[in-house]
Amino acid sequence: MKFDKNIRNFIYGELKAPISNSHIDNYDPSTGTVYSKIPDSDERDVGRAVKAAQLAFPHWSSLGVERRFRVLLRIADIVEQHLEEFALAESTDTGKPLSLAKSVDIPRAHANIRFFATSILHFSSESHQMEKEAINFTLRQPLGVVGCISPWNLPLYLFTWKIAPALAAGNTIVAKPSELTPMTAYLLSLACIEAGLPPGVLNIVHGYGNKTGQAIVEHDDIKAISFTGGTNTGSTIARIAAPRFKKLSLELGGKNPNIIFADCDFDKMISTTVRSSFANQGQICLCGSRIFVESQLYNVFKEEFVKRVKKLNIGNPLATKTDQGAVVSRSHMEKVLSYIELAKQEGGIVLCGGERVIMKGKQKDGYYIAPTVIEGLPHDCRTNQEEIFGPVVTIMPFNKEEEVLKYANSTVYGLSATVWTKDIDRAHRMAEKLEAGIIWVNTWMTRDLRTPFGGVKNSGVGREGGLEALRFFTEAKNVCIRY
Ligand code: NAD
Repeated sequence: MKFDKNIRNFIYGELKAPISNSHIDNYDPSTGTVYSKIPDSDERDVGRAVKAAQLAFPHWSSLGVERRFRVLLRIADIVEQHLEEFALAESTDTGKPLSLAKSVDIPRAHANIRFFATSILHFSSESHQMEKEAINFTLRQPLGVVGCISPWNLPLYLFTWKIAPALAAGNTIVAKPSELTPMTAYLLSLACIEAGLPPGVLNIVHGYGNKTGQAIVEHDDIKAISFTGGTNTGSTIARIAAPRFKKLSLELGGKNPNIIFADCDFDKMISTTVRSSFANQGQICLCGSRIFVESQLYNVFKEEFVKRVKKLNIGNPLATKTDQGAVVSRSHMEKVLSYIELAKQEGGIVLCGGERVIMKGKQKDGYYIAPTVIEGLPHDCRTNQEEIFGPVVTIMPFNKEEEVLKYANSTVYGLSATVWTKDIDRAHRMAEKLEAGIIWVNTWMTRDLRTPFGGVKNSGVGREGGLEALRFFTEAKNVCIRY
């Protein structure tokens, strides 16, 4: 699969330059240098993509699940066969360790496609029999042309998490990956060509969010928007989509609590907590950035945690020994560093990290931040309320269950929460009372693709995953027959 320096849009099965012929620089965050060009598409490119998707819809939606399943499996196989190229592209675009892209991002991307390709074979709808000579059944029909917009932190992983259920259910798509990380979506368009996906079924338009993305949301012929990204962007999208009565799925930001009780399995907890704090440089919406530790364990935890964090290897994402690569962009690095400054102003004590790391050689201008642990902050300060989305965590002691519940639930977010305890009653009580869409007990990021995925409060609206995604991408029509 050819790693192309000039990314092109994928419209009606063809690779096309944007109508404006203007391009955006694509940076490699590990070196801080431009390594490719991205189409700076506008509403005209989106308009073409929508027309292509409309043309493709009657054929694709009536093709039958068996044939859709076969094409999707071919795409999944091609992605898997080209694991090395996809992983290298993902690591180069995001700055994440190549080992992570190889072991998590790309395997999960082809797993997503296979999961929904096979799910559609088992998808069924309800029937409701009435007592008196009538029966209702629900038809679940594809929506038509749908829009899928994804972020930069897990690019192909989250792109396929939307595209696969939408296609399996018979929709056609206009999709946009993040302008910061477009390369694997581009490679996916090559995989679609190779797999023989009919023209127009999936169209990928690259460009800025407030231009290309917004044109997708504003287009009247796009029936639904599945969006993953920041809460503020989600709010803008909701405002545009609401008067147009578009179906919306919004997966937004988080500020997840990681709650550690003294009776936990310490070894399991501590190694998982290093991961849940700093995996992907802390740029996973599910990372536990607020760590609450029961008082009697606090000092032991602090000592061991900081010791392990200091040992994390920061460096060239392509090197096998690297644990921490670069953060995604200069502006994101500056944002994260400004939060570390804010934490200090708020009275926080930096136990480790707390600064940009300047590498030697080719990586000298890369965007590296030392994994940072901060203590001494109250639960309600800005550092503990706002999403930082980088390698920064705070640690705080607590005494009582009700107290930590109050702290944990005190933010506007509610995506995920992790609880460490061996007390099963307490685990149930906490799971019930934590305000989050996803609760992990004695684990983190253990994912079964059949389960509902999404957040409460400002972390989102709707659920992805399993049947939830197939329901989102279909319209329920009730048919009542009297006999
Ligand atoms: P972002 O909101 O800046 O961008 C996400 C996508 O939306 C990009 O493709 C962008 O180009 C596009 N976009 C931006 N403005 C737009 C507009 N006005 N109209 C349409 N599209 C627009 O988010 P990001 O910085 O790429 O990603 C980080 C955020 O994503 C974090 O807040 C993180 O928590 C969140 N996230 C959430 C989940 C989840 O499942 N809940 C998963 C991953 C990331």
